[in-house]
Order: sequence, then structure tokens, then C-alpha cells
Amino acid sequence: MPRLVMKFGGTSVANLDRIRRVAKRVGLEVAKGYEVIVVVSAMSGKTNELVGWVNETSPFYDAREYDAVVSSGENVTAGLLALVLQENGIDARSWQGWQVPVKTTSAHGSARIEDIPTENFDDRFAKGMKVAVVAGFQGVSAEGRITTLGRGGSDTTAVAFAAAHKAERCDIYTDVDGVYTTDPRIVRKARKLDRIAFEEMLELASLGAKVLQTRSVELAMRYKVKLRVLSSFEEPSDDAGTLVCDEEDIMESNVVAGVAFVRDEAKMTLVSVADRPGVSAAIFGPLSEAGVNVDMIVQNIAEDGRTDMTFSLPVDQVARAQKAMEEAKAAGGVNFHDLIADEGVSKVSVVGIGMRSHAGVAARMFKALSDEGINIKVITTSEIKISVLIDRKYMELAVQTLHDAFGLERA
Ligand code: ASP
Ligand code: MG
Repeated sequence: MPRLVMKFGGTSVANLDRIRRVAKRVGLEVAKGYEVIVVVSAMSGKTNELVGWVNETSPFYDAREYDAVVSSGENVTAGLLALVLQENGIDARSWQGWQVPVKTTSAHGSARIEDIPTENFDDRFAKGMKVAVVAGFQGVSAEGRITTLGRGGSDTTAVAFAAAHKAERCDIYTDVDGVYTTDPRIVRKARKLDRIAFEEMLELASLGAKVLQTRSVELAMRYKVKLRVLSSFEEPSDDAGTLVCDEEDIMESNVVAGVAFVRDEAKMTLVSVADRPGVSAAIFGPLSEAGVNVDMIVQNIAEDGRTDMTFSLPVDQVARAQKAMEEAKAAGGVNFHDLIADEGVSKVSVVGIGMRSHAGVAARMFKALSDEGINIKVITTSEIKISVLIDRKYMELAVQTLHDAFGLERA
């Protein structure tokens, strides 16, 4: 029998009433003849509460116990959904990560799934189980300790199960009805996409569109899992939501699929560093050791053997970056005249696989921004993405402008 993976996020299982609605939804797929694997998140707000409690114990908590605590939210929803399904006469059983087992690395708090054996489920499905309810976000390390996959990790659990079980599809039920050309709270005309390519989704996810955990999209792309994002609050229909799929499965697409943004970015400039081999390493080595996530990097043309180096980073890492640079300077690793931080910038990006074959996307983007008098501070490009840093006060305007400029409200 074909298998289907259905994943329900925190708002979809926020209370017993909603869990009953989820059970109904699952029942519809069982009635179609699927063997269903349901992956659930913790009730909305639960994981934050658990993380808060752990943080209160000590800033130096044992990461293994963090995982023991924060994984518990999913156990509750998995058990409750199994109970409600049973109440509806459906043979259902809950599974915690260690019972499957979902084998992961030992990187507590951000473990990676290494293997999901399928024998246990095959066996139980053969014996009549109709639904396996899996606690998302968790696994077990080789040492036998409970691990978690990082915030939003239930998406990754779902895709990993879909890949391991060769499921027909992986449906991610959430509180939005699909993937949009941009955030509808900023652009009212934002349009829901029927389809989006894995690569585009990957860029959008890592650029701050929070629908799916980035890692889950990577996995889906690697194993060609058909991924659908849809709302658990809408009436069921076959073409609901957005299908995240191979680019070959998209007939016609806009050159630009969407506009993404990261509101709280910062920009730092090291003024007048020596222009010689080893300087970049002397700057970005210590930054990475300090756990600073550098994104864009721009080095100016040198004059008289000196140059400026600018990079972007999340606002809340500025203090850490400053400290790392001052220490590197004191230790003689790198020399600079001044260190300037600008904490008031945002990153806005346009993403689309169509850019590979269309010239002029960058020019159109820059023209649109300049027509609105928006100054671009840093630019980076990849094959399917162009990103700019701009003053944060223009972020909304920039997103709206680009949405218009690329005609994203039209299919
Ligand atoms: N409950 C976890 C979180 O809030 C995992 C998930 O929901 O995906 O991050
Ligand atoms: Mg989520």
C-alpha cells in the first residue's frame, strides 16, 4: 500500500479540539487506502516554554539534558493524537524518536538524522496498523541519549521519514496556505505559488521565509521527496497549498519566484587593512571561531596597499564580532584603523531559477530601487539570487517595489 507522510505544526495541534480536526484529516487519507505516517510538533508555544525553563537553570546547562527536556513537547502531542485516532476507530500507535529509532549524530540541540530503519513500521503496518504517529524534532544518538534536530526540526523529521519510506508525498500542514511570492503582511498583493522548485525554496527558506526548516528542503531536494505545504485550517482539496518539486516539474515560471528579506542585519567595516595574502583568513578565522555567522563579504579595491573590508552579520552578533576583531588586533593577527558597525540594515533578495537564462535581472532590480531613492550598500549574487543590503527603514518599501517591478502578483 502506498505510504503518505503528513506533518502538523504547533498551531495545528495547539489544543485537543485542533488535534481532533487533525485526526479527521488523517482519517480521510486512511480512507483513501494510504498507510500514513504522521509527524507532529509540540503544541504551539510549548517548546519555547521548555527552552525558557532550561535557560533559567543555568547559562551553562548540559546540552544532553536540554534535549531531554525540550523533546518532551512532541511526546505529548504524539500520544494524544494516537488516542484520538483510536477513539475514531483507527488503528494508530505513537512513536518517540528512540523507539523508531531515528538515529542521529550526537550534536545535541542541532543533531542530524543519519538513518531511519523502516523494518519496525513495515512490520506493524503489515499487522494492521493504519497510522504511525511520530514525535517530530527528536532522535537518539549512538550513545543512546535523546537528541533534538534544531528549532523547526519536525519538518526535517517528516521529510526524512518520507525519504526512508519512499512515501508518495510529504504534506506539511501549517497555519499558512502555502508558499507566497513574499510575506503577505508586507505586500498585500503577494500571490500563493502553486509550485516552487527545491532550489528556490531553499534560498527562500534560508533567507528568512520561515515556512520550512532549511534542512528539510535540502533533504527533500537530495531524495526527491515531493513536498507540499498547505493549511490545516482549510477544506481538503487535491490542489491545495504549494508543491515544492523538481524544476523539471514546473512548466512555466516567472524569472523571479519571490522576494525574501531579513530585517535585522548589521554591517561591519574594517577600515584600512593591509592588502596582502592571509588578511582575509586573519579576519574571518577569528570571526567564525567566535560563532559569528558572516553572510555577505565585500573587499574594496586597494590603494597604497591598504583596503577596506565589509561584511554583514546578524545584529545580535555585533558585540561578539567587535570583541573578536579587537582581540585579533591586540594579538597582532590583523591591523585596521577603525571598526565601523552599522546596526540599521536589512537584506532584501530576489530569487528565481529563471535568472540562469535571463540577463538583466540585476539591472532591473537596481533601477527599481533607485527609482524609489533607495540606496544600496552591499550587493551579492549567486546563480539564482541577488541580495542587497539597504537601510532598515526602507525595507518594506524595497520589498513592495521589487514585487511590483517583477510583476509577481501575476502568474
Ligand atoms: N517544536 C519544535 C520547535 O518549536 C520543533 C518543531 O515544531 O518543528 O522548534
Ligand atoms: Mg515550523
